[in-house]
Amino acid sequence: MLTVNVAINLPVKSLFRQFTYAVPEALAFLDRGWRVVVPFSGQKVEGFVVERVPAPTDDAVLQKLKYVEAALGDKPWFDEEMLATAQWMSQYYMCSLAEAMRLFVPGKTSIKRRAVRDAQGRLLYYVYNERLKEKLVLAYSINDAGRAALAEGVLAKRAKAQHLALELLAAADEPLSVSELAEQGASSAVLRELAKRGLADAGSKRILRNSYERAAERKEYLQLTDEQKAAVAQINAATDVAAGQTFLLQGITGSGKTEVYLRAAAHAVDAGRQVLVLVPEIALTAQLVKRFQAWFGDNIAVAHSKLSQNERGDVWHRMRTGAAQVLIGVRSAAFAPFADLALVIIDEEHEGSYKEEDHRPRYNAREVMKERCKNTGAPLVLGSATPDLCTYYKAQQGEYTHLHLTVRPNGSVLPQVEIVDMRKELAERNFSVLSRRLQQALVTTAAAGEQAIVLLNRRGYSTFVMCRDCGQTITCPHCAVAMVYHSANSDLRCHYCGNTAPIPTECPSCHSRRIKFFGTGTQKAEEQLETLPEVRVLRMDQDSTVAKFAHENILSRFASGERNVLIGTQMVAKGHDIPNVTLVGVLSADSALNLPDYRASERAFSLLTQAAGRAGRGGKAGHVIFQTYDAENRIIHLAATQDYDSFAKEELELRQDFFYPPFAQLLKLTVLDKDEGKGSALAQRVAMFLQREQLEGRLQDLLVSGPFPALVAKVRDLYRFNILLKAQDLQPVKEALLHSEFKEQKNLYFDVDPASVI
Ligand code: ADP
Ligand code: ZN
Ligand code: ZN
Repeated sequence: MLTVNVAINLPVKSLFRQFTYAVPEALAFLDRGWRVVVPFSGQKVEGFVVERVPAPTDDAVLQKLKYVEAALGDKPWFDEEMLATAQWMSQYYMCSLAEAMRLFVPGKTSIKRRAVRDAQGRLLYYVYNERLKEKLVLAYSINDAGRAALAEGVLAKRAKAQHLALELLAAADEPLSVSELAEQGASSAVLRELAKRGLADAGSKRILRNSYERAAERKEYLQLTDEQKAAVAQINAATDVAAGQTFLLQGITGSGKTEVYLRAAAHAVDAGRQVLVLVPEIALTAQLVKRFQAWFGDNIAVAHSKLSQNERGDVWHRMRTGAAQVLIGVRSAAFAPFADLALVIIDEEHEGSYKEEDHRPRYNAREVMKERCKNTGAPLVLGSATPDLCTYYKAQQGEYTHLHLTVRPNGSVLPQVEIVDMRKELAERNFSVLSRRLQQALVTTAAAGEQAIVLLNRRGYSTFVMCRDCGQTITCPHCAVAMVYHSANSDLRCHYCGNTAPIPTECPSCHSRRIKFFGTGTQKAEEQLETLPEVRVLRMDQDSTVAKFAHENILSRFASGERNVLIGTQMVAKGHDIPNVTLVGVLSADSALNLPDYRASERAFSLLTQAAGRAGRGGKAGHVIFQTYDAENRIIHLAATQDYDSFAKEELELRQDFFYPPFAQLLKLTVLDKDEGKGSALAQRVAMFLQREQLEGRLQDLLVSGPFPALVAKVRDLYRFNILLKAQDLQPVKEALLHSEFKEQKNLYFDVDPASVI
């Protein structure tokens, strides 16, 4: 009898193990990679066949085996490459195979069953139909009678329209929808008539939804620079040999990385193969999407994060069947199925949005793609002006092929950066969040008909509210953070849990009425900017971009010149290319540097460089002002000269001295608990377990720090404790944890390669 091991697709942690099921005769084709329906603790659930296994020899065990009830789909969902990647993920990210595999399926499907019975009416088995809601439309196809009529030409004279419609149907190799027919001049009345005469069959056709509106843009043929040509040639060669090579395409802002992506993608598409382009966020990369659309038209599928489940199902269907050749998508597109993947491009590869932070497993799409590329042979191109230091290090070591774009091809030069010391402003009694230099530059820019971008990485109006008498800050009752005043609704908001509260009339601790607002967020900065002559402001932050397509709307209003200053959080600093922007102001260049995290410098450098890179991209020279309270800071000076290589050299030396990535691997363990004492106790037990393993000589190379409360010690009423593990090679400690009692501990989270250690 055929038996298979099945990973159960239920999102509970205790399902690390797989279960053996017997396979009924009718499903004897089942093998690795099939999605199936199995009975599991009284329910019918989805599972993934992991492997065929020898039937148990013990008869009693055999008798007890449950049967697989049905197969989903008409072929295995997982191919060998996807299976291998899921296997790798479960080991690397310390999750169950089911947790890794479920990322590869389009989403929950409602399952409907039909009984199959024998001649005596006894139940044999059930057939389950996948009910991913498909959008079906009326479509017609030609039948044998129609073909005969066409061949005899019987309609040619008497019913010309019907004859033409039949010709259309005969030429198509699939049913044509009413609208496709109408486009070619065959009305639905004519088709109804054909169907009535028995010459065509009415049926249905699946329509693939493409929720991303196609914007008309012309395909530009630019003369590539020598650097671009060299990069394209190397990538294309790698696509042809399919050896899974990884490239770092390091190009300064505005150096034409997108142009390289387009040419490399075209090479793969011309060969009839497929390309995946990952972007940090579709809303902020509308320009890249448009340029791809100009080149590849309807051959593109776009997977943004607001797709409905059905839309996502359609996108994946197009890639799986080869109906589309280019997929542009966010993090989750790393799990799409492909008919023939030839090339993978990850734009802004250093971006934090490639890392899953909320759900298990906490994977990084870049690393997942590296694995998939290894398994498929597709080359992986990582593009950035400010690469992740780990990526850069690997390129330096020769593990990745390092490609450079060092000039802006349209002749524009990198902007001049000026550092303004805000302590001096205070000393000279300027209490505004805008330095006098920046105010002046804004007014001059506006008067010249040019535009400016102002970055302030704090949303809201005032950033905290404090009692003047006792110094008490108003904090969120559910989180250990200060609440932020928002002027739109005149209330206080928690940026961690979204909780809102009215502004208190008195201090909750000393009942003083001297409540005061401190700090400046984007809303207050917007107000101050509005007072400058000639300046008309648009604001872009999380609060102004709730609506669908809000990012695109704000950016296109700004690009059209309707307003001349765009203020916002880091989303204003990224990706876009607006030629009329000649000034960029960063209101507090040091804010990101003050976090107690080993990556604070890297993040700050990258943000400042990206922000500065928005200025002077057209013909006119750019000017950038960094305001800071720490005017001597090294990182700010390095960012001012846009000197990534020097920054990387210095920072890598520090990383080596303090044993941080890329020289060490990190694993962050986080305990979440409603009860502070219980959470702390669990964290202690984990730490003690690790120390014991060390003492017994099993994990010698491991460094354990903590447990300590997280920087934000409570979020949504859950207390958070972290333990940070460092080692040259984490595999032994991962294995030790996965064989310990903690493996299935529900409130203990494993974060491999954490984005931050706080
Ligand atoms: P990046 O992605 O590196 O920031 P982009 O690809 O957006 O840069 O290119 C910046 C600008 O330079 C764009 O307006 C683009 O059209 C232009 N550009 C790119 N390559 C060339 C080229 N070879 N010749 C002329 N202009 C180019
Ligand atoms: Zn008080
Ligand atoms: Zn809160």
